[in-house]
Amino acid sequence: EFEPEEGSIMSTIYNPKSSKAEEFISHEEILETLAFADEHKNDRAYIESILEKARPVYDERGRVHCDGLSHREASVLLACELPDLNEKMFKLAEEIKLAFYGNRIVLFAPLYLSNYCVNGCVYCPYHAKNKDIARRKLSQEEIRKEVIALQDMGHKRLALEAGEDPVHNPIEYILESIKTIYSIHHKNGDIRRVNVNIAATTVENYRKLKEAGIGTYILFQETYHKESYEQLHPTGPKHDYRYHTEAMDRAMEGGIDDVGIGVLFGLDKYRYEFAGLLMHAEHLEAVHGVGPHTISVPRLKRASDIDPSQFDNGIDDEIFEKIIACIRIAVPYTGMIISTRESEAVRGRALSIGISQISGASRTSVGGYSEEERPHDTEQFDVSDQRSLDEVVKWLMDLGYLPSFCTACYREGRTGDRFMALCKSGQIQNCCHPNALMTLAEFLTDYASEGTKKCGEDLIEKELLTIPNEKRRNIAKDHISNIYESNKRDF
Ligand code: SAM
Repeated sequence: EFEPEEGSIMSTIYNPKSSKAEEFISHEEILETLAFADEHKNDRAYIESILEKARPVYDERGRVHCDGLSHREASVLLACELPDLNEKMFKLAEEIKLAFYGNRIVLFAPLYLSNYCVNGCVYCPYHAKNKDIARRKLSQEEIRKEVIALQDMGHKRLALEAGEDPVHNPIEYILESIKTIYSIHHKNGDIRRVNVNIAATTVENYRKLKEAGIGTYILFQETYHKESYEQLHPTGPKHDYRYHTEAMDRAMEGGIDDVGIGVLFGLDKYRYEFAGLLMHAEHLEAVHGVGPHTISVPRLKRASDIDPSQFDNGIDDEIFEKIIACIRIAVPYTGMIISTRESEAVRGRALSIGISQISGASRTSVGGYSEEERPHDTEQFDVSDQRSLDEVVKWLMDLGYLPSFCTACYREGRTGDRFMALCKSGQIQNCCHPNALMTLAEFLTDYASEGTKKCGEDLIEKELLTIPNEKRRNIAKDHISNIYESNKRDF
């Protein structure tokens, strides 16, 4: 570990309310956290008290509440080596997941707009010096084709992806693309929520994205370790650690109150990243009154000229699962996302211990959805789970989950702390659950194979009975009959 210089910013105290990246993600505080976690990792009584503190508590009106954990407490859980307590941890993560998210899993797909990039990120095949990939940027007409292909699978929610290139992918291009996407209504299809994963930008540009009607703004920190960050991003605008780390503050200043954070596991030491991730969440909560809407857990993958074994911080599935469980316990109200970087088996396990959103049938190449075969020449990384959306939906139902294409919260203005309030109100089963059922009914009627349709209709029948409020249950029933029998959608 490097020693902070005397008097340098690194030796100042940790301050979650600070606007400076080096203070709210204080390197010193992370090192102290790791030392604290090592000291207590087998302290049975202390770990049991942390688990007790994190347990969901129900009031007489059925409202559920969880306190969550500080980055220090959660880091102790992550470091714990006592098998029986680790088992308890996984059980608690499952309990919390169920209390706040029920059995619903939200589905989405990434849409790659452009792989032009001026950065030099050493782990990403988009890096400017890579001559092995074909550079491509979708025209508005090509976007239409991609979106229609996605709509025809049944997708309602997209995450836009683009490299950073002020000439090829300026903000105007992203804004025009969002407009195009929202304007396409093909058969019964429409994209109802566009999330955006583009490089850190200015408050003014975030305001424009907000005005364009984006859902969540997603930006992965990649690594919270400043020194590593600067080495891993040697050239281009992304080199600036502070500008990147403070991006979510600018996004929130620009009016976007649903932001999604994440680290790319494999780049630096996972315990360091885990503490940094939770400190980032604490910072957003402390300054803006609302934590991140989602946390993603991408792991580094092979891609073009990138070989993950060049990086020696890869984590195995066991540690990966523990990270997911510990995030679930620490920030119970935050959605968690896993992509098709992971295999079916890993995704299956991750769902039970914390994940609430997954991508399905993803193509990580620019223009990939309009092609019959999965193209590789513009691909960002290798996709592990290559199943169709219909297969993913059927698989979720077979595992006991309720696949949801719901986008209601954001369209009804329930973003930021208003979404969190719904989460805490105990009304999720009366609100999100019927919405999930209605959007599943749309999917089954418009896009599903016979087997998936049959299985889904039976599931809807059963799940309707679990809506506690009779009036709402009847409304959902009527809407679902309408969906089955008519072309009316989007109730
Ligand atoms: N260009 C934007 C940025 O710099 O944040 C975002 C778009 S990029 C397409 C989305 C994410 O892909 C990155 O934030 C990074 O975490 C991830 N990524 C890059 N290379 C990867 C690799 N080899 N394996 C897995 N994920 C990778």
